[in-house]
Amino acid sequence: MSDQLSQITQHYREILKGIGEDPEREGLQDTPKRAAKAMQYLCRGYEQSLDEIVNGALFASDNDEMVIVRDIELYSLCEHHLLPFIGKAHVAYIPTGKVLGLSKVARIVDMFARRLQIQENLTRQIAEAVQQVTNAAGVAVVIEAQHMCMMMRGVEKQNSVMSSSVMLGAFRQSTNTRQEFLQLIGRSR
Ligand SMILES: [Zn+2]
Repeated sequence: MSDQLSQITQHYREILKGIGEDPEREGLQDTPKRAAKAMQYLCRGYEQSLDEIVNGALFASDNDEMVIVRDIELYSLCEHHLLPFIGKAHVAYIPTGKVLGLSKVARIVDMFARRLQIQENLTRQIAEAVQQVTNAAGVAVVIEAQHMCMMMRGVEKQNSVMSSSVMLGAFRQSTNTRQEFLQLIGRSR
């Protein structure tokens, strides 16, 4: 076991005691280690970098029309409660000579989602990363997510979906561009 893993495992044992459980009982014997591994997996975005994710998958293109990737599944942990928030991200950009391999957009979303987050910062980090990598004329990101910290505790608002958006460049400056994007993701009013 790595130092990091055994440390987190030990802390989970303490958490189990803290909530009044017996970490030695049969069902819980391997739980601290499993939970530690799960937490490492859910936070693996810290080990990744934008360069490594993109890995040269930038292609020359004279397309200057909006590229849009909709409904990217998103699983993250809120930094306030360490509880999941789950939803979808929609990402669009307007290329200026370079396009990004399609799976890379989803991987960028994943890298930032697999860190402790608040939804607004996650949205901005994705937008800025896509901007940085593609040098796009504009980037738009919308995230719609349900937060377990709202659904399972506190106000227990089971059906509330939180929506956040970041618009950069052309998406910020041009109402038409922004509207086109919102229409394409089914969110125009
Ligand atoms: Zn929370």
